Amino acid sequence: TEYISTGELAELMGVDVSEVISTLFNAGMIVSINQRLDADTIQFVADEFGYEVEFITDYNELEIEIPEDRPEDLQPRAPIVTVMGHVDHGKTSLLDYIRNTNVVAGEAGGITQHIGAYHVELPDGRHITFLDTPGHEAFTAMRARGAKVTDIVILVVAADDGVMPQTIEAINHAKAAGVPIVVAITKIDKPEANPQRVMQQLAENGVLVEQYGGQVQCALVSAKTGEGIDDLLEKVLLEAELHELKANPDRPAVGTIIESRVEKGRGNVATVLVQNGTLRVGDPFVAGVTSGRVRAMFDERGNRVEVAGPTIPVLVLGFDELPEVGDQFVVVPDEKEARAIAQKRQQIRREQMLRKQRRISLDEISRRM
Ligand code: GDP
Ligand code: MG
Repeated sequence: TEYISTGELAELMGVDVSEVISTLFNAGMIVSINQRLDADTIQFVADEFGYEVEFITDYNELEIEIPEDRPEDLQPRAPIVTVMGHVDHGKTSLLDYIRNTNVVAGEAGGITQHIGAYHVELPDGRHITFLDTPGHEAFTAMRARGAKVTDIVILVVAADDGVMPQTIEAINHAKAAGVPIVVAITKIDKPEANPQRVMQQLAENGVLVEQYGGQVQCALVSAKTGEGIDDLLEKVLLEAELHELKANPDRPAVGTIIESRVEKGRGNVATVLVQNGTLRVGDPFVAGVTSGRVRAMFDERGNRVEVAGPTIPVLVLGFDELPEVGDQFVVVPDEKEARAIAQKRQQIRREQMLRKQRRISLDEISRRM
């Protein structure tokens, strides 16, 4: 089993990733920043830097084996994109502009409701799914749960403000997760906009855009006038093509919980981003430590949908209990089995929490002594 990447391990210990890489190099191992490390290697590095490691089994990984797809069953799929960047640099405006000017896949009509993700169809028939949850928190929360949802990060930097602390944080998150970046220098309609300065600041922070002789694609956009947004989407799709994203629509659905809440009259509802397979009304499922059966599904316009294929986000009704953001959602053969798996996971989680509590109280005792 492989766990976190070299970059993530360095981030957790608060040391520079180059120190981790050189420590491993001195021990005869050549690793890259995005490489996932096995338990022995993590243990070794932690020892070297004076950290203790505890491997906690995530309940998402218990009791269900998800079979691999055969290569011949895989079909191209849309990219799943997260927009990140400093506060007030224009993330929401950009997402809204794209949502409002492109056909949202599915039927027209209905009032747009926030479900944490949306799927657009461009005029030429290509598709992109955007995660519409407040950038960093959602990305970090999901990654902390081991959920790999994002294919591409759009890094938004305001042309009038430049690289700021949360810009750097976003760069670090994307790099540690090994997710490619496409830069959107936004607010270029403003008189004080200075995209050249932004590109230079990005270069100083390890992001070399193509205009600077680097590999990272970069579009100049305005969410006010719409300038450059087609170009940005084109670049996102080009980046997606490089990664040959694929899924198998002809299998039971596997996805991730993007949002969850209790709604009056509807009970527990959650947005499921289907990542593989096709989800249908009536499907029994396990999601984290809860289970259920899909009673109804809605798209972000509130239209009822019967099926949702790979990369389609849907609001799902029918959860026995509220799932957590980042929980894996897996369709299983029947509801009874779903319930049994959920119960088993709940029990294991209780035991893990108990162990943790015991350890904390022991720690506290030793601190007081
Ligand atoms: P967020 O915090 O990153 O989500 O930023 P917002 O999308 O809320 O934008 C912050 C402010 O910048 C708002 O007042 C927007 O109207 C403004 N804004 C966003 N994009 C643009 C743009 O392209 N041009 C101009 N002139 N203003 C923008
Ligand atoms: Mg916002």
